[in-house]
Amino acid sequence: MKSSVITMLACPRCHQALCFDAEQQRFICENEQVAYPIKNGIPALLPENAISLTITDEHSNHNPTEGA
Ligand SMILES: [Zn+2]
Repeated sequence: MKSSVITMLACPRCHQALCFDAEQQRFICENEQVAYPIKNGIPALLPENAISLTITDEHSNHNPTEGA
């Protein structure tokens, strides 16, 4: 009998296994390219907390060379 207890967290939206991002302290669903933050040490695995990893470059639209 195998006793491999793995606390594998699953995405609340697509139910795929999540990857833990140690640097950003968050869980990532590679299937949907979204991240779930960890709040107070507890993974906020709610669909409403999903943060898209494919962020559009809206911030790069503003003029970086502002004349004073
Ligand atoms: Zn997912």
